[in-house]
Amino acid sequence: MDRCIVCNAQIDKEKAYLSLKYKGKDYLACCPLCKSEFEKEPEKYMKKPKEQKD
Ligand SMILES: [Zn+2]
Repeated sequence: MDRCIVCNAQIDKEKAYLSLKYKGKDYLACCPLCKSEFEKEPEKYMKKPKEQKD
């Protein structure tokens, strides 16, 4: 099972809204919202999809 790069929801690669290629790796987005979030700040989601430091 793969995960949405933005919201970390489990998604099936086949059912993902979008499969994004970024710097040679594949990332999945589950919905249009996550896609646009990812495109706004790709680096943010590249580094730590799960945890965030305050
Ligand atoms: Zn998502």
